[in-house]
Amino acid sequence: MTANASERLLQHYVDNFRRLPWRSAPGTPPPPAYRVWLSEIMLQQTTVAAVTPRFERFVTRWPTVEALAEAKDEDVLSEWAGLGYYARARNLIACARKVARRGGFPETAADLRSLPGIGDYTSAAIAAIAFGEDAAAVDTNVERVVARLHAIDRPTRAQIEQLVRDMLRSGRAGDLAQALMDLGATICRPKNPLCASCPIAADCAAFASGIPERFPLPKPKRVRPLRHGVAYWIEQRDCVWLVRRPAKGLLGGMAALPGSEWQDGPLPVRPAVRHIFTHFALELGIERRSSAIGDGWWQPLDTLEDAGLPTLYRKAVAAFLTDRSSRRRAA
Ligand code: SF4
Repeated sequence: MTANASERLLQHYVDNFRRLPWRSAPGTPPPPAYRVWLSEIMLQQTTVAAVTPRFERFVTRWPTVEALAEAKDEDVLSEWAGLGYYARARNLIACARKVARRGGFPETAADLRSLPGIGDYTSAAIAAIAFGEDAAAVDTNVERVVARLHAIDRPTRAQIEQLVRDMLRSGRAGDLAQALMDLGATICRPKNPLCASCPIAADCAAFASGIPERFPLPKPKRVRPLRHGVAYWIEQRDCVWLVRRPAKGLLGGMAALPGSEWQDGPLPVRPAVRHIFTHFALELGIERRSSAIGDGWWQPLDTLEDAGLPTLYRKAVAAFLTDRSSRRRAA
């Protein structure tokens, strides 16, 4: 079954592959490892549609890993603003510098795995796509496709990796990785898989069962604790006071509104914004203050878009300004 499925899937990929700025067409030389690496880091928890324009801007500004290694931390973090998960951006900088020092990316998944921010999936994806290593790149899309192909309720990562390795065809590791990713993203979707358009439907045990969506079983939902905080709006002469968050910790090194610590108990300020982080949800109130707090800078209100604020603070700024203009209209 697996051999047939591989052949059909690879042919479908050749006929239908998604043209993305970090990819090469099947049968042409592989893309540079820098572009594969950067795209894979950007795509963790972020959609292809959101990543594509950001990727283009990034590689226009820093076309090589050496150029990125020489960039200032603040510039990279500002360019990352809005993509979320800022630990990824800090690891990106550390990884670029390490790669530049050693004179290029290592070419095996095992060596790539030793670089900052590169885990099992990313190392296998870079090794397979950029260097043609027979590595099994398993993300959630690939896990779902392979679990369905074999009708497995609760697959383990090792089990899926082995099944992907069984599907490998000599010299086609990169194509197979991207074919599985594309199939998971466009056809074998979590809900309403398009089995009628699927090149491996004839080999698929979940399809044969009549209830393909049932595989794999959903993982238990994570319950996030709720924290609370206050951001301070300090404004003078059409400028607002911004600070840089401490280098270590959540949103480390990013531009921010100054504010309180984030704590478990509610604060005596009406929440203006709710934001979901990986491990907790945050309700942030906004309070006006009159004088600057800590080290920071006056950012003109009409250039706030360029300040490199992460999504949490962009939402807070938008909530404050919307609230203020509706109050003014009502007055
Ligand atoms: S036949 Fe359906 S369930 Fe099976 S791999 Fe294709 S899209 Fe997924």
